[in-house]
Amino acid sequence: MRFFTPFRHLTRSKLARYLASQNPKANPMADSKMSFARSAPANDWLVICDFDGTIAHVDVTDGVLSRFALPQWEAIEADWKAGRIGSRECMARQVDLVRAPREALDAYLDTVEIDPDFPAFVFDCRARGLEVVVISDGIDYSIRRILQRHGLDELPLASNRLQMLGGDRYALEFPEANPKCSAGSGTCKCRVSSRQASGRSRLLIGDGSSDFCLAAEADLVFAKDKLLTRCIDQRLPHRACPDFASARRLLPQLDRLSSRGVDRAANRNINPVISLETLVNG
Ligand SMILES: [Mg+2]
Ligand SMILES: [Zn+2]
Repeated sequence: MRFFTPFRHLTRSKLARYLASQNPKANPMADSKMSFARSAPANDWLVICDFDGTIAHVDVTDGVLSRFALPQWEAIEADWKAGRIGSRECMARQVDLVRAPREALDAYLDTVEIDPDFPAFVFDCRARGLEVVVISDGIDYSIRRILQRHGLDELPLASNRLQMLGGDRYALEFPEANPKCSAGSGTCKCRVSSRQASGRSRLLIGDGSSDFCLAAEADLVFAKDKLLTRCIDQRLPHRACPDFASARRLLPQLDRLSSRGVDRAANRNINPVISLETLVNG
């Protein structure tokens, strides 16, 4: 029996009260057996969360570079911002400039806070039978360490991989890169998520340019900042979502989409933008 770790510190009765307060009609604790495995009616959505700027308030990679990289990292960043290089090349060259003893790196990572409502959001999703994954164009080591501190180390993660070269040196590997990715990302979110979803609809929650390739394909986007502007400009099906407190409030809309029998393929062919958006608003 898996017990969802952010709540492992709660006694069973406290957890039951929490669940009742969140969703009195679908309280898995009403059953005497403690089970979280897809106990709610299954919604066929995969929930994909960006990390930097979405789960974490800050961009952790930028935080590492600004503290530990040789000063040339900023010129490389400028090349990326100007569109001269993709994020994959940008990050590979920048991480090569990092000079940080492991303890110093860890000490910084241990100061990074996440959206305080993210653990409860994950819990809500699981109570609804929804799988949550993290797909990030950031660094796996940083993300794992930060999630672990919040009891979320069980979340599936796809991202760029930090290689420890010894001493204070590092390199970045890109197991999820896609040479065909228009964004030149280290981690191609559209391809990874398509594999992970295996037929389920995709909900993307994100904030920035690493999310653009997936936003164009996702069935629904909860967006803020640059990603929100992108969704509006490109008329992608989306909801404005500044934080995970908002995401928690928006989640029940997935039920409405499912219960009305969204036929994604049909919607795509007829009008990929309007049909889902109309359902959400309608
Ligand atoms: Mg981001
Ligand atoms: Zn892509």
